Amino acid sequence: MTNLSRIKVVVLGTNGVGKSAVTVRYLTKRYIGEYSSGKDMTYQHKVTFDSVVTEIEILDTSMCSGCFNEHLKWGDAFVVVYSVEDKASFQGARRTLQNLSQAKESSFFSLLLLGNKRDLDYMRRVEVDDGQELSLKYGCQFYEVSAAENSAGVSLAFMSLLREARSAQLLR
Ligand code: GDP
Ligand code: MG
Repeated sequence: MTNLSRIKVVVLGTNGVGKSAVTVRYLTKRYIGEYSSGKDMTYQHKVTFDSVVTEIEILDTSMCSGCFNEHLKWGDAFVVVYSVEDKASFQGARRTLQNLSQAKESSFFSLLLLGNKRDLDYMRRVEVDDGQELSLKYGCQFYEVSAAENSAGVSLAFMSLLREARSAQLLR
């Protein structure tokens, strides 16, 4: 067993759901409101689990319809983001989970379903129960968060995904 592990995380979801906002929130604890779109961004940072340093690479994807297979091959863990005020984005998340589960043996990657923009509760179009039910269907973790409002939920969600991915690596 090495004392340095590496986890590659891909952030997926339809345009405008807050993929960049949650990624930047997790990495910097900040929310800047506007994020450049149009190209994939990769970030690196380190997390220590049980005194073992783990290198994390996060790929914040943008609209690229032909890239799914590439992302799939690259990633160990996937964050599938939708917005609670956008029903179509939830349907998109459902399709992505379906595609992921068909394409890869689920034992080889960890999955997080993330309902973002929970601060927009008054505009909510996707119920918490719907997210919960979808996550149960695909055996993935599920959190509702607001990248705009605070860091706690986003950090918790990412950390539990990373912890799961790390445990899965140790079992291999
Ligand atoms: P991406 O296309 O999925 O990367 O989405 P962005 O991260 O660029 O976010 C799209 C828009 O939604 C931006 O105007 C963000 O400021 C906004 N946004 C992102 N997260 C939240 C959130 O939690 N709450 C609210 N109200 N707006 C958000
Ligand atoms: Mg983006």
